[in-house]
Amino acid sequence: MGYFAYLIGAVIVFVWSMIVQANLKSKMQKGAQMRAGSGKTANQVVEEMLRAHDVTGITVEHKPGNLTDCYSPKEGKIYLSDTTYGQSSVTAIAVAAHEAGHAVQDHENMLLYEVRQFLAPAAGIASRVGPYIVIAGVLISAYAQNSSSDIGYTIGTIGILVYFVAFLFYLVMLPVERNASNRAFKDMKEFGWVADDQLSFARTALRAAGDTYAVALASSAITLLRLLAIRGSRGGRRR
Ligand SMILES: [Zn+2]
Repeated sequence: MGYFAYLIGAVIVFVWSMIVQANLKSKMQKGAQMRAGSGKTANQVVEEMLRAHDVTGITVEHKPGNLTDCYSPKEGKIYLSDTTYGQSSVTAIAVAAHEAGHAVQDHENMLLYEVRQFLAPAAGIASRVGPYIVIAGVLISAYAQNSSSDIGYTIGTIGILVYFVAFLFYLVMLPVERNASNRAFKDMKEFGWVADDQLSFARTALRAAGDTYAVALASSAITLLRLLAIRGSRGGRRR
């Protein structure tokens, strides 16, 4: 991927991410104004969903802030944010059911979920360090122009492999997130946590949240292609 193609790709992903963020914000805000038909709170929904799937030993806690909702497998806790914890809005129910969906994935030892958990600790470091290793490889190649060794190329390849861990993480994350939302939607429908006429809205809100992971994957793919170009080919002197 040449620099120009990379720039165009980066701009497209940036604009797309702006659209996705704006859409998500508007959906979440709109859903926060809708009181769920069942009148149940997010906490009750989590408990019912876990019980329905025989998941035990999980506690629900409040995590102050916005978008702080998450399932922590290590702690055995589902954290719910300000707008979710104890709330009865359609957004709160959908978000809570999504997080409970992760707990169910974990409980069922869903393969992709396990892979995501395995990659998660390394992914953050890999995405930061990988590109620097590739650049180091390029610099070494430039200084070693007269040498016949391919050490710069080899280092560049190592950097790409390191970054690939981060790419894999995003690749696995997307279906895992979609699956958690599908589980949430299925149970929302089955147990009637939101009214029938609120269901389709709840689904679009969950989709909007899932789109952010598609953006992250696309962004990571572009970086990966760019790193391949920066490393260049064996013995090549591309810049
Ligand atoms: Zn999730």
